[in-house]
Amino acid sequence: MTGQRKLHIKSYGCQMNAYDSHRMADILASQGYAETALPEDADLIILNTCHIRAKAAEKVYSELGRVRKLKERAEQDGRRMLIGVAGCVAQAEGEEILRRAPAVDLVFGPQNYHRLPDLVEKAERQSGVIDTEFPVEDKFDMLPAPSPAAVKARGVSAFVTVQEGCDKFCTFCVVPYTRGAETSRPVAKIIAEARQLADAGVREITLIGQNVNAYHGDGLDGRPSTLGRLLHALAATPGVKRLRYTTSHPCDVDDSLVAAHRELPSLTPYLHLPAQSGSDRVLAAMNRRHTRADYLGVIERMRRARPDIAFSSDFIVGFPGESAADFRATLALIDEVGYAGAFSFKYSPRPGTPAADMQAQVDDEIKSERLAELQDLIERHQRRFNAACRGRAFEVLLEKPGRRPGQLVGRSPYLQPVQVDASADRIGEIVTVMIAEIGSNSLFGNLPASTGVSPDLDRTPAAMGA
Ligand code: SF4
Repeated sequence: MTGQRKLHIKSYGCQMNAYDSHRMADILASQGYAETALPEDADLIILNTCHIRAKAAEKVYSELGRVRKLKERAEQDGRRMLIGVAGCVAQAEGEEILRRAPAVDLVFGPQNYHRLPDLVEKAERQSGVIDTEFPVEDKFDMLPAPSPAAVKARGVSAFVTVQEGCDKFCTFCVVPYTRGAETSRPVAKIIAEARQLADAGVREITLIGQNVNAYHGDGLDGRPSTLGRLLHALAATPGVKRLRYTTSHPCDVDDSLVAAHRELPSLTPYLHLPAQSGSDRVLAAMNRRHTRADYLGVIERMRRARPDIAFSSDFIVGFPGESAADFRATLALIDEVGYAGAFSFKYSPRPGTPAADMQAQVDDEIKSERLAELQDLIERHQRRFNAACRGRAFEVLLEKPGRRPGQLVGRSPYLQPVQVDASADRIGEIVTVMIAEIGSNSLFGNLPASTGVSPDLDRTPAAMGA
């Protein structure tokens, strides 16, 4: 144990990286590191990188150029500063990072951060420490529980990683190479973590995994569980009031997950279910392992189980070989489902993935035109969805101070930010809110006491005119 040192972690990309960054802070807290928001004050800066966007590695190198200047300034002041690169770019680039950015002291992958105390100690003695092997031990067994103070500082909604890696090998995606094969944590350990979080004030838990509904960790009875059964077990955990999960693959939606949506009031009626394309030809080229009809079948089963469920998705436009007719099929799928929101991207090749070498790459100008058209359509659906929320009563978890004094902001079941007049001591409560106004980025609502009515929760279909 050394004296108090300062740690700055800059996290890029998905919720899994956000979760990993918290766990890195937890393990380094046990080594005397306190987090700082100011990189220039830090003794250790970690960039927790993401490989999902175009030119991810180049962006990391230019950020490392900025961080190197901070390190030089610290050295001029007679202070030692270490620089670490973590996450998927670290896993993919490995030694190349040390070669191109010699100011970096340590490089480690997403499966190795439980070894941080040893890696940091080594980096203090020698230059260029690297650890990107997939370890045999389970990193979650080696990580300390976060302190109640750290949990409190992170808010009333928390992520818990339940599954990592992916065996699907979609032809555009680097995840199977950077995060490795699918692994799942045992149910008992996830419940123990959820209990600790709930005891420290967390009210909403989002279960995360690259392919979360492929979850197959050991159940309490020793047999492999499913995500649906895990959700049932967590719903019975005292203090856990609301559950979400992301990101799901259409092929792994089984009956137990559908049953969880039907039977668990604490599971929000909102499902992020990436479609990527509405064309069977493109889905096959992407190796998505499902057709458009399969996807719509999942939507239908979920709607039957939970009529107020809403959906969001991911779409890639301009995948190699995507014709105008394929693109129209994607637009038609968006109209058919009526999404509450979606993320969309132009296809860009990731080195080492099969799609990067495919013939018939689509011209960038066409990709841009298609993306604009698709985003316009998604926005129209999202606006209709939000507009239909006016006058409805939603359960909102009050999370933090809102835009102005006397206001709090929370999330609706559909993840929309909701601004409500309420005092700060109500943070952490789930309250019923009447939605009165729809803004461009938020909904505005009233607590029943201020409306004079006591609304019943609205469970009418979420597709509501979409
Ligand atoms: S299922 Fe998701 S994480 Fe797995 S390869 Fe496909 S896009 Fe990547």
